[in-house]
Formats: sequence, C-alpha cells, structure tokens
Amino acid sequence: MRQHLVIIGNGMAGIRLVEEVLNLSPDRFAITVITKEACPSYNRILLSSVLQGVCAFEDIQTHPLTWYQENQVTLRLDEAVQVVDTKTKKIITNARALTYDRLVFATGSDPFILPVPGADKNGVMAFRTIKDCETILSNANTHHRAAVIGGGLLGLEAAKGLIDLGMEVDVVHLSNRIMDRQLDRKASSLLKQELEKQGMRFLLEKETEQILGEKQATGIRFRDGTEIAADLVVMAAGVRPNTKLAQESGVPTGHGILVDDRLCTDVPHVYAVGECAEHKGIIYGLVAPLYEQTKILARELCDQPGLFYRGSVVSAKLKIAGIDVFSSGDLFGDTLDEWSMHQGTKRHYKKLLFNGDCLAGACLVGNIDQSSELVELMRKKTPLSDKEKEQLLNGKGRSKQIRLMPRSDTICQCNAVSKGTIVDAMKKAALTTVEQVAIETKAGSSCGGCKSLVSELMQDVQAGRCEEVAPFIESVCACTNRSQYDLAHEIKKKKLVTFDIVASSLNWKKRDGCSVCRDSVGYYINRFFPDRAPRKQSAVEETDGTFTVAVPMIGGMWKGEQLGLLEQVVRTYQLPGVYLDETSKLQIKGIPLEQVEQVQSALDLPITTPYGKQLHVVLAQDKEGWESGKELADRLFAHFKGDMFPAEIVVSFGEQKVKRMPDMTIRETILGWECYLLSEEKEKLLFMHESTIGFYRMICVLLHSYSEKALYGERINDWIEKEGRITVLETLYASSLRNRLEVSKKKQEVVLSVH
Ligand SMILES: Cc1cc2nc3c(=O)[nH]c(=O)nc-3n(C[C@H](O)[C@H](O)[C@H](O)COP(=O)(O)OP(=O)(O)OC[C@H]3O[C@@H](n4cnc5c(N)ncnc54)[C@H](O)[C@@H]3O)c2cc1C
Repeated sequence: MRQHLVIIGNGMAGIRLVEEVLNLSPDRFAITVITKEACPSYNRILLSSVLQGVCAFEDIQTHPLTWYQENQVTLRLDEAVQVVDTKTKKIITNARALTYDRLVFATGSDPFILPVPGADKNGVMAFRTIKDCETILSNANTHHRAAVIGGGLLGLEAAKGLIDLGMEVDVVHLSNRIMDRQLDRKASSLLKQELEKQGMRFLLEKETEQILGEKQATGIRFRDGTEIAADLVVMAAGVRPNTKLAQESGVPTGHGILVDDRLCTDVPHVYAVGECAEHKGIIYGLVAPLYEQTKILARELCDQPGLFYRGSVVSAKLKIAGIDVFSSGDLFGDTLDEWSMHQGTKRHYKKLLFNGDCLAGACLVGNIDQSSELVELMRKKTPLSDKEKEQLLNGKGRSKQIRLMPRSDTICQCNAVSKGTIVDAMKKAALTTVEQVAIETKAGSSCGGCKSLVSELMQDVQAGRCEEVAPFIESVCACTNRSQYDLAHEIKKKKLVTFDIVASSLNWKKRDGCSVCRDSVGYYINRFFPDRAPRKQSAVEETDGTFTVAVPMIGGMWKGEQLGLLEQVVRTYQLPGVYLDETSKLQIKGIPLEQVEQVQSALDLPITTPYGKQLHVVLAQDKEGWESGKELADRLFAHFKGDMFPAEIVVSFGEQKVKRMPDMTIRETILGWECYLLSEEKEKLLFMHESTIGFYRMICVLLHSYSEKALYGERINDWIEKEGRITVLETLYASSLRNRLEVSKKKQEVVLSVH
C-alpha cells in the first residue's frame, strides 16, 4: 500500500517537491497537498508582473487543477492546518482530520506587518499572494497616493506596479540606501537615480511611527515628526518564516524550522523545505536554493539518499522599469579585493570582489549578461589570474561566447538548468522560442533573468555553432590548477598515496585542500592503490570542518562486540553523534581532523566512504505488481554493493513512470535483455543479449570499465560518449576481458533490499 505523504503548503517549494517525488517514484506515495490559498499553484515571483500589468493571473499559474488530477495528487484548497500531532501522526485542518506517514512543512513566510498603531486600517496591505495582488489592484482604482514601506526587492517591485497603475508613489526605507542588503552604495545610488527618473520618490532613513486616518489610512507619520499623505500603504518590510504550526507541534524551531543536511527535522518522519526552513542558521528567501532543497528532500522521501544540502550561493536578479540589477555572494567583506567599473554614459556598473584568486561576490547594474558566468565562477571557486579578472571586469569573459561554455554550466540559476540540458532539448524537440524552452526544461520559467542567455544559445544552436568545451579540462577546484584528468594521471604515474603527498607534489595552493579536491584525490587513491590508501582518505569533511566516517553493516546486522566497540569509541573521543543512514551505513560524525585516523583505527571495522557515489537500482512494477528483472537487479546490486563509482548511477529495470530519466534502463523482451542509455531524455539502445547470464556479464563489464576509467564526477553517459560507443561495445563483447573482470570480483550474494 502507498504511504501517505502530506505537504503543508502549495507554494513554489511545496509544488516543486511534489514534482520531484513524482519524478523519482511516481507510485510510492498517496500525496495530499494542503494550502491556505484558494487557487492552485502559481509563480509567486511574477506577481509583480501582474501588478505591473505585464501579464494576467492565468499567465502565472503553473499547475492547473487538471494537473493535480492527472497526477493523482489530492489538493486541499482554502484549508488551513491548525494542529499537527506528531506522536499519533494526525493533522487537523479547519475542514477535516487526516493522518500521515511522512509530513513536510512547506509553509513559506508571512509578510511582516509593522506593529505600529493604525496598521490594521483599511488601505494597509501586504504583497505576497494573489489575493494581496487582487486587493492592491482593486484599491488602485479608487486610491491615488500610495506609500510602499520597504526599499528592498519586493518594495521596489510593488512601487513600480503602483506607478504603472497611475498612482503617485513614495518608497519609505529605514536605511540610507535602497536594496542595502543586496547592493553596494554605488549600485544602490545608480538604481535610485534611474527609478527617480521613472517617477518613484524615495524617503530614506525614515522610521514609520503610525499609520494616520480614522478607519481608512490617510498617511504615515515618521519618528522624526514628519508626515506624508497616502491612502494606500503597502507593507513590504520583509517576511517572517511561517513556523508557528511547527512550533506548536513540538518540532524544533529557531528563526525557521530547524533542518539538517537531509532536510529532516528532529521529529521522525517530519521534514521542512523552502522559506520556512532554517539550515545551519540560514533561511533562504529566493527560489533557487529552495529548488535545490526539494531535490534532496525528494530523494530522502523516496529512500534514495546520498545527496546532502550544503547551503547555496544565492543571487538576486531584478528587472525594474527596464533596469537590470544582479547581486550575488559577499559584497561587504573587509578583506576582499575590489575591482569595479562604471560606464556613466551607458549606465552600466560592475563590481567584482575577490577572495585571493577566486570570485567571492558580484554586483551588476545595467547589463547583467554575465550573471550566470559569475555565479558559476563563485560556485566552483575557479581560480583566476589577474588578466582573467580584468577580462571579466571588462565584459570579455566567457559569457561573450556562451557556445564555448561547458555543458555542465548552469544557465538558469533559479531552476538549476544546465547549458547541456537546454541545448539537448532545443535539438531534440526543434524548439524555436524561449517560451518553448521554459516549458520543456523550466529554464527561464521563474524570475526570467536568463531568457536573454537562452535566446543567445538558441541562435547559436540554430546556426550550428554550438561548440562545447570538454568537461573535466577545468581545474578540480580553487586549491589547484590541475584538471581531473591531470590529477588522476599524476596520482597514478607518481604513485601518490596520501592527500598530503598529492598536495605537496602537485603544488596545491591550499595545503589542506577543500572537500571537493579531498574527495577527488581520495577517490583516485582508492581506485589506483586500494591496499595502500590510508584510511583517512575515506573520511569526508563536513562544512563545519569536522569529519564523518562511515562503517557498513555487513549482512544486515551488528554484533554485540562491534556495538560495544562503537560505544567505547564515541565515549573516548567525545563524539557528538552516530546515525544509521538509509544505505545501512553507520555515519560517525563530528570527528576533528587530528583524530580521524585514531578513530578509524580504534573502530577496527571495515571503513567505507560516507558519500561514495553508488549504484542505485530501481525496479518498476507492472499493473499486477510484478517487478520485472528482480532477480537480475538483486544480483547486480549485490555485486556492486558498497563499491565506489566516479558518479552516481541509476539503473532502472522496466518502464518507470518517471520524467527525470535514470542513466540506464534495462528491459526484458521476448528476444532477451536490452540495455538502453538515457541522456537528457533521449533513449539509445547500447547492447542486448539473449541470455540472462550473458547480459549480466556484459552489464558487469560495462560498470567495471566505467569505474576503472572514468574521471571523478563524470557520469556514465558522458563517459561512454567520450570513449566512443563503438570502443565501449568492443570491450563488452571481448569475452576474455569479461571473464577476467568476473573472476577478479567474486562477491557474496546476499538477500537485498533494492533501492
Ligand atoms: C512579489 C514577489 C517577488 C519575488 N521575486 C523573486 C525573485 O525575483 N527571485 C526569487 O528567487 N525569489 C523571489 N521571490 C521570493 C520567492 O517567491 C519565495 O522565496 C518563494 O515563493 C517561497 O516559496 P515557499 O514555497 O517556501 O513559500 P510560499 O510560496 O510562501 O508558500 C507557502 C505555502 O504554505 C501555505 N501555508 C502556510 N501555512 C499554512 C497552513 N497552516 N495551512 C495550510 N497551508 C499553509 C500557503 O498557503 C502557501 O501555499 C519573490 C516573492 C514575491 C512575493
């Protein structure tokens, strides 16, 4: 029977989570989504466009009611959850009581209404929902002077909408500059000048004391004694995460609902995602991080863990009254190296901040074409020479040639859509408009800031000039200029068997490296010198600087003496926590660097890598519930259980009703077995074999060859493309090699729980 997944909230995080879960495992849950709002899902970001008259409500709806019906998702509209009992797993709304197996809080935020006298008068409103938008629009017919409290992103968007509705608008802001959290002084002042030209008036350093009027608002009084007239007051002074319900239900909260790297709260089977969730002290208020979170939570819910949320590099894009603004990363660090340029005539301003060689923050006004490239540089911590920094500042970066960007670079930051995905979709479906690309891939469907890049890419694809830089020629991370290829080659050739030796022999810039290069180096050492690799390599560094090691549960059980040993180690080293992950590994967390090796040898147990890339096998069920290929899937999983691969591999047996394709699909036909490769939704037959044992051998050879030859992080499909399908097929059909590999890999067959 399907488990009942209840999601409280149908906002941008809630609905994206439903999509992700359906993609991964469409038949796993009976899903109920509950929302206080009266309409199905819409793109909240585009509310400003509705206010500005650029589009209508229908245009921003993302999922009509029919979508919920088609996907068998129960949607409860206009219904507020009032009580959650996490002990009995019961929920009470204003309309019904229901139970859950898994519960997700996606309750977002409420607008912050300043607690000043008169805030409840007619004419005072927020700007967060379609209903708010409707209220503002209907009031605009009868009111003439508006004041927007808040000079941040939301306030400016609301103010622009009100100007377009023919109102006189004052923007009131507490700080001495607008968008002070996203823009530096210069950018803020340039934006203000531009907006003033469009009719916006600014009252800076003004603290609202009272909303004036009888029942209806007539104006605002400030703490300095001054007053302005306003019959419509929009509060856009920030938002507060919606945590009340969680708090009353006993779910731990801080500023938001507290979650760990898997988006789990402290209460079993209760999760939080989106603007209501607090991860490592941060609450994200933009969609890109929320979408990253939903991906990870979906996997957690579908028992396909292995991905962890490590926080996000956030960026804000805003197009207001035709002025593009972009800001990302750290703009205010004292120790950062600042490079800036201002072309007064063109009204372009660019400021780049570097932490050593790496880009740490950026702020653009006027022309934001480089924004995707800048985010990629920050995300990957790519080291840059002074010449490259100068080129970046002068706009001669790679973005000038989007066709040369690697396929893996992200074009749509909101939806994390890569260039490769967009190019493939354009080619496959012969797309000719940016809107079609948005429907097919979601790129450009949220804030819309990447539409110009998508359009440029489309021109390149249509003109057949989409060259691509091969992946893995870029440096591994900021600690080294070496590419993955170089690194693998040097480790093997020079027999480098510890991270420290690698770092000193290959002139690492940062002696201790970072989690990216440590993982890569660890992977190659384990691969080339499995017997000599120090155990420390299998520890993974967490973002707080401590390490995690993992111990597999062999044969599904722990012996008493093993448990005793574990307890002793935890006590001796005063470790904060141990937990069992979904792949039956015990993760021992919070180990300081200097104690990693001591803990590992004290454990005296087989150590594995906590976040090793593994093989996932997914079984499809037919209408009668038969799982095609179960025996073969079990054998394959047993054969590779615990093995590390360069990247995660998802092998699906039979027809999955998933939209996001696995890497490979295996089908049983009347002629035997077929293996299909799936890349960006295109399916290609790689090989087939009439007998089960013959097919099993071939798939084993394929996976072994991949793990022996591919570079760390290289997905199996990309590796096959790189090697050439013919070369790979030759290997598969070379029976002598097949047998050698088979013999070298004798594994016990165990009863499996298949993922
Ligand atoms: C005008 C505007 C412009 C924006 N522009 C941008 C932008 O350019 N770029 C960007 O990245 N972000 C932007 N944002 C922010 C972005 O929209 C939010 O970060 C995102 O929508 C948050 O999604 P969420 O699902 O976490 O919360 P929400 O979208 O707020 O959804 C919360 C859901 O929870 C439901 N809910 C809450 N409590 C209960 C309860 N007790 N019972 C039942 N249901 C409940 C609500 O009904 C709602 O469905 C903008 C926001 C606004 C308002």
